[in-house]
Amino acid sequence: MREDIDPGRRERYMPSMIDDKIKSLNILIAPDKVLRAHARPVAAHDNQAVRELIPRMFATMYRAPGIGLAAPQVGLGLRLAVVDLMTNDKPAPIVMINPEIVALSKELATHEEGCLSLPDQYADVIRPALVKVRFLDQSGARKEIEADGLLSACLQHEIDHLDGVLFVDHISALKRNMIMRRLSKDMRQKREDALVG
Ligand SMILES: [Zn+2]
Repeated sequence: MREDIDPGRRERYMPSMIDDKIKSLNILIAPDKVLRAHARPVAAHDNQAVRELIPRMFATMYRAPGIGLAAPQVGLGLRLAVVDLMTNDKPAPIVMINPEIVALSKELATHEEGCLSLPDQYADVIRPALVKVRFLDQSGARKEIEADGLLSACLQHEIDHLDGVLFVDHISALKRNMIMRRLSKDMRQKREDALVG
């Protein structure tokens, strides 16, 4: 599962979902310490902040464009993530507050993963094929999702972010180092291009 998606799909899908007035949040790029920290559970006193944050997280995710975004990726150490696979260009937004994995299958599955915090970097990641996740939705209602395929990988990837884990932690050190080196080179190049241009 790539956290980023083809912009054409976003174009077909986004207009109905995004209010132009909603400002995007800045997505942190690895290696950033915040991406490695354990996020804390959302508490009752966070309600107002979370209510304001959710539309901005969706806007940031759709504009990236991506199919998942966790609060630590926008610099907030809260156990909160948004997901929308945009399958068949149909909106299916999921808000997960304090998500918990309650079951994982023994059976494994491989998906190519990418991450908005590691732009343009991809690798095959092996994870449990099925996952059962419990969380609170936007209205505070208890929800449970059993997922397979892309959604399963995506939910596991986003929940990993809440524990400071990135998809590259699931691959060999050799491949991880290669990706991190390439990413820092890309980022340096972007900064240089921005200075010149
Ligand atoms: Zn990610």
